[in-house]
Amino acid sequence: MKYFSEHLKLTRKNVQANHTKSNQALSFDNTEIAFKSKSNGELTQSYLLFKAIGYNWLVKAGPTMVNGALSIGLPITGIIKKTVFKQFCGGESMTDCNNTIDLLNSYGVGTILDYSVEGEEKEENFNATATETLETISKAKGNAKIPFGVFKVTGLGRFDLLAKVNAKEDLTSTEESEFARLKNRIYNICKTAHDHDVRIFIDAEETWIQDAIDDLATEMMAEFNKEKCIVYNTLQLYRHDRLAYLKTSFEHAKTNNYYLGVKLVRGAYMEKERERAEKMGYPSPIQPNKSASDSDYNEALRFSVAHIDRISICAGSHNEESSLLLTQLMAENGIAVNDKRIYFSQLFGMSDHISFNLSSAGYNVAKYLPYGPVKSVMPYLFRRAAENTSVKGQAGRELSLISKEVARRKVVK
Ligand SMILES: Cc1cc2nc3c(=O)[nH]c(=O)nc-3n(C[C@H](O)[C@H](O)[C@H](O)COP(=O)(O)OP(=O)(O)OC[C@H]3O[C@@H](n4cnc5c(N)ncnc54)[C@H](O)[C@@H]3O)c2cc1C
Repeated sequence: MKYFSEHLKLTRKNVQANHTKSNQALSFDNTEIAFKSKSNGELTQSYLLFKAIGYNWLVKAGPTMVNGALSIGLPITGIIKKTVFKQFCGGESMTDCNNTIDLLNSYGVGTILDYSVEGEEKEENFNATATETLETISKAKGNAKIPFGVFKVTGLGRFDLLAKVNAKEDLTSTEESEFARLKNRIYNICKTAHDHDVRIFIDAEETWIQDAIDDLATEMMAEFNKEKCIVYNTLQLYRHDRLAYLKTSFEHAKTNNYYLGVKLVRGAYMEKERERAEKMGYPSPIQPNKSASDSDYNEALRFSVAHIDRISICAGSHNEESSLLLTQLMAENGIAVNDKRIYFSQLFGMSDHISFNLSSAGYNVAKYLPYGPVKSVMPYLFRRAAENTSVKGQAGRELSLISKEVARRKVVK
């Protein structure tokens, strides 16, 4: 017994020493590492794009202008493909993504293939998305370059149906069978992920369908996470009730003896959530301010790391402080930098300074790589543009990092 406790102490010491080395080397300001995958031309293109989406008016008018132009058949697909699509997407098909998958892998960063077709509400579209998602899982099987799969429940079933289930309204018999078909698609995807040993994320969406999604995710985790964590639910910490929900989910997993998978994000639908709550006269589900979201996000990291024996985490964030905090928590708890229960994840085209510096220090990192026909990926691209508008926020940060790297390259030339 004494031997084991001494051995454990030594192992912890080694892990901590590794972390000290990693953390000394870990700096999100290292632009050489951050942009080593980009040529000078690509850097200039990214700069111009972030500059353009830093203009609030352009991003606000963008969806109307682009949708209008697409609907009357103006030939703008080519321009979109060469600019915003190229920055944030892997291509129109899974095969188009191969070069990016290899490029990311050559820097130790994994890919999460995200078939990002949104807003198409027919059964044939849902079946097609389910088939495509199954193909991403087959591609990920035994493939270290693709450590996770992902899907959105609204890619597999109708939004209004989920809203009705969420509100616990009675379903008609046609709706009952429609819901059964949706559940069946989700079950097939999670079972295939389990059988192929591929971990899979279920994305989080709007609060008025999220209870329905949480119930489905919990059912899948209870079924497929018995031996290890395969299915991950997503928690949005911009909601003031999610830290409590994390703790309830943990208790549920413990009582029912399965592993809990959580992708922790801040949340992407803040404006929409606040507007709806105000319009319909119910209290906003969103935190009162950014620092409350930050504080709950970081607390969720602390809670999950403290229960790492049961909870597997993916920190889906572009926030430097939270990413650094997670590395510190890992060090404090004697968790190896490459422990498979902890992943960091960023979106393709954003925050390479976090992804590449973390992977260079040995941490597990994977980037969401959206793909799909240009027109169908537009809602995803509009969300990214909106997220980047604030010059003080993400776009400003990306611009200053790119400028720093351009200046550095001029000096070393
Ligand atoms: C890998 C990955 C997967 C993702 N998956 C999902 C998903 O499944 N579902 C989803 O909804 N989003 C998802 N997102 C998006 C995510 O929720 C955030 O919108 C985005 O990452 C920005 O938050 P941040 O932590 O990166 O950084 P930060 O820039 O530090 O935070 C910005 C975020 O803080 C919150 N915030 C900003 N202002 C306020 C305010 N005044 N009051 C309260 N909160 C505020 C908002 O959530 C905002 O997006 C994902 C992101 C990544 C990187």
